[in-house]
Amino acid sequence: MGTSGERSSRLTGRLRAIALTLLVVQVAALGIAVPAVEGRQRIRSAGMEIWRYAAYPRVGPTDRGTNVLILQHLLRAGSPKLDLSSTYDRSTRLAIAQAQKKAGMRVTGRADGRLWDRLAVPLRRGESGHAVRALQVALGEKLGWGVKVTGTFDKRTFSALRRLQRDVGLRWTGRVDDRTWRVLAWHYERPAFGRSSLCDYSTVNGPEANWATSSVIAWLERAAAIFHRRTGLSVAVGDLSRRFGGRIPGHGTHGRGMEADLRPIRADGRQCSVGGNDWRERGYDRRNTRLLVRALRTAARNRVLFIAFNDPGLRSGKGRARFAPGHNDHLHITWCIPGHRSSLYRCAR
Ligand SMILES: [Zn+2]
Repeated sequence: MGTSGERSSRLTGRLRAIALTLLVVQVAALGIAVPAVEGRQRIRSAGMEIWRYAAYPRVGPTDRGTNVLILQHLLRAGSPKLDLSSTYDRSTRLAIAQAQKKAGMRVTGRADGRLWDRLAVPLRRGESGHAVRALQVALGEKLGWGVKVTGTFDKRTFSALRRLQRDVGLRWTGRVDDRTWRVLAWHYERPAFGRSSLCDYSTVNGPEANWATSSVIAWLERAAAIFHRRTGLSVAVGDLSRRFGGRIPGHGTHGRGMEADLRPIRADGRQCSVGGNDWRERGYDRRNTRLLVRALRTAARNRVLFIAFNDPGLRSGKGRARFAPGHNDHLHITWCIPGHRSSLYRCAR
């Protein structure tokens, strides 16, 4: 980015800081409690009470990724031979059902908050076992804080825990309690840009907007892998959500870790290195963009709510996208969760 861009972003930063100060003063004066998820400035800084709205993710059909892996480690306490596939497969469903039965819960084979609560046992330094591994996957793999999965609550795990509790506004206890577990399971993650066929392109929001729910990240990576196998090309990822969600500049949505913007595919295949690409311009590759849309749908069966992109050549079949104002130079994907409270993210029946 050029100097003028840097200057303007610095200026924007200063304006934001002023706006935040005004907001804080105003809120303090009125004594109004602003929910953490609403104001992006409140979310930006560490110490916000993220744990207040963090909820355990449901895990069921089509889910995959780090949260499923965390859950599988926890399930191993009762099903020691469970495969660590990071995918909600048949054996995971059976292990969940078994855990539910044992706990006297309704047997659904899908994990909900009650089951997570049951499995996520409190932990302290020096302990070892399956739950410690689950913790280490969350801190190491999901948050990327260099914690190795050793199975022992060691010094590295301990310092990462300290950092997490500070970031999400939890009192530092040195222990993993139910609030900490809830935050860990709820927490968004970032794509493995280096290890996958995904590359990052930045908008005004920069790398701050590279977070999404762990299933969305896994679906994106899988779609990119499918697409790469067919075409040898990479997929350029723009904004997802912010680390803790909430409003984000330039978007009416993207607040819940359930959305992504991607660049269309270019005929020269350089969507990662060359800037934007508009379907109305020469150099746009309809055939491969359709393949990308298909891969996105294949990777997340029944969990893609819609894909917005304005090329009228992509209106039908598995490679279909729908019209939405402004979506000429990027594809917007919204994934869904069955029974989600908000109709914005609820899967259509
Ligand atoms: Zn979007």
